Amino acid sequence: MVVLDGKATSAKIRQELAEKVKGLKSEGKKIPHLAAILVGDDGASRTYVNAKVRDCEEVGFGSTLIKLPTETTEEELLKAISKLNNDEDIDGYIVQLPLPKHIDETKVLLAVDSKKDVDGFHPENVGKMTLNLPTYIPATPQGIVEILRRYNVPTEGKDCVVIGRSHIVGSPMSILLSQHNYPGNCTVTLCHSRTKNLKEVCQKADIVVAALGRPGFVTADMIKEGACVIDVGITRIDDATKKNGFRLIGDVDYENVAPKCSFITPVPGGVGPMTRAALMMNTMKVTELGSK
Ligand code: NAD
Repeated sequence: MVVLDGKATSAKIRQELAEKVKGLKSEGKKIPHLAAILVGDDGASRTYVNAKVRDCEEVGFGSTLIKLPTETTEEELLKAISKLNNDEDIDGYIVQLPLPKHIDETKVLLAVDSKKDVDGFHPENVGKMTLNLPTYIPATPQGIVEILRRYNVPTEGKDCVVIGRSHIVGSPMSILLSQHNYPGNCTVTLCHSRTKNLKEVCQKADIVVAALGRPGFVTADMIKEGACVIDVGITRIDDATKKNGFRLIGDVDYENVAPKCSFITPVPGGVGPMTRAALMMNTMKVTELGSK
């Protein structure tokens, strides 16, 4: 069994990007500048955004963090977005989700300039991804594809089950793994809360991607010997023994599932760091996709 080490792989990606930034600098070219908008005071969102800013610093990108209070109106947020759309120095930006309930998330995502949409959530970029055209791909599925590639995990002709159909993880994951690419060329089944016989469906799979947000949901009896299991789930569970007061639990019962697997991602240290690395890769792409 091989543990797909997202922590080590993402560190390697950051190192490679830092080299590329040095190259851009020496050629006198523009260094990518990523901005992030954070609305409100959600602890997890704050942690994620701060980590993204740190990643930018590490690879040498410019970064700008725009913090707005919870009571920010939709109109005020749309104004901040319009400002970023028109700011020549900002190559790409993200609006950290979830947004406070009084703000319409779809309206906000549609307002982002698709050329600066490094999260890949704008319909134009989702369309391009679906057609396998060059574009920004949502960071979590992109991070998963990247770790499969770097560990040479076989995907061609494999039966893959993706559990969860969210727009940011499950749905794009199912599209990417079914594309005529490596990693891809899988026969994909996309499962969700209304799927019948999920256990039996999973038992046939060579690759299982669990992205439903239910701690320990995928148990050993659902997994075939030799399967590759990708655990996307992150649930915070209170834990007084931890410095920050919580620990992270994945969607997979790792202890019992891992011995059956050919490859598996741990939580933490698997898909999470790869997601962050993929955002940095997308930000580097602004130079290739030509946001300017
Ligand atoms: P979501 O809540 O938007 O979607 C969950 C999906 O799971 C839905 O499509 C639902 O139909 C499906 N589902 C729920 N219960 C189910 C069941 N019993 N059987 C089958 N399907 C079921 O979630 P999301 O935003 O895609 O996130 C999923 C998990 O991944 C969460 O734990 C989230 O925190 C985590 N996540 C991790 C990263 C990362 O970087 N590691 C990134 C994004 C999300």
